[in-house]
Amino acid sequence: MIIPAHHGGDAPARMPSPPAIAIHQVSHFFGSNQVLNHVNLSVPEGTILALLGPSGCGKSTLLKMLAGLLHPASGQISFDGEIVASGKLSLPPEKRNLGMAFQDYALWPHMTVRQNVAFPLQMRGIRGAVQHEKVMAALERVGLADFVSRRPSELSGGQQQRVALARAIVAEPRILLFDEPLSNLDRDLRESLCEEMATLLRQLHTTAVYVTHDQHEARTLAHRIARMDKGAIASIDPTDPSVVSPFVA
Ligand code: ADP
Ligand code: MG
Repeated sequence: MIIPAHHGGDAPARMPSPPAIAIHQVSHFFGSNQVLNHVNLSVPEGTILALLGPSGCGKSTLLKMLAGLLHPASGQISFDGEIVASGKLSLPPEKRNLGMAFQDYALWPHMTVRQNVAFPLQMRGIRGAVQHEKVMAALERVGLADFVSRRPSELSGGQQQRVALARAIVAEPRILLFDEPLSNLDRDLRESLCEEMATLLRQLHTTAVYVTHDQHEARTLAHRIARMDKGAIASIDPTDPSVVSPFVA
């Protein structure tokens, strides 16, 4: 029997897909203060990484690099294998297909809930009935479908953060970034909203980086916890499955 020469017997090795987020040797300075020191970190698609660490260790700075709000002094950031920041190349935030929610909610005070949530769709040119459907679906997910006509000042802190969450997810971005979104809320509300967010993020299967200094939040929400200290990643561990996380297989 003649075996064709190219039939080596083994099937060609399938290339593993690149991580949703890859941070390679990223450093940054504010003046002479080095706030990020050769950070390496990757986040597989569909997983949630909690970035945990003391105040001032560089968590928000690193998140801003992912968002495109700051540019690294050196190093490289890729999303799905596509470089978004390296050397002089910097993809602007609106081209990175992200959703973000921060500690201070950052809702536009003059807009209604519906207009706030619709904004990322408006930016992407999604209007009319499709926009309306997506806005209502996002608001239903966070339990605020009845509040479309209110303005942020007419909502509680927890409700405002839910609106910010709806706005982050409405356009189904490839990556979600959170910077201590629950830290302005009182303890009870923080715990219940944390559970709700854990359920929501599990349903969405979106890749997410969740900055917090709260260990309990990190364990409830994340698949993995990266601990940061003085501008560097000190350790990366899976969350303890015996604690809370419904995520860990
Ligand atoms: P974290 O989010 O972990 O609390 P940050 O990333 O906000 O920490 O800050 C890291 C360090 O960088 C801190 O020492 C902070 O004071 C400093 N820093 C942050 N933003 C700026 C800025 N715009 N200008 C100068 N220093 C800054
Ligand atoms: Mg911070």
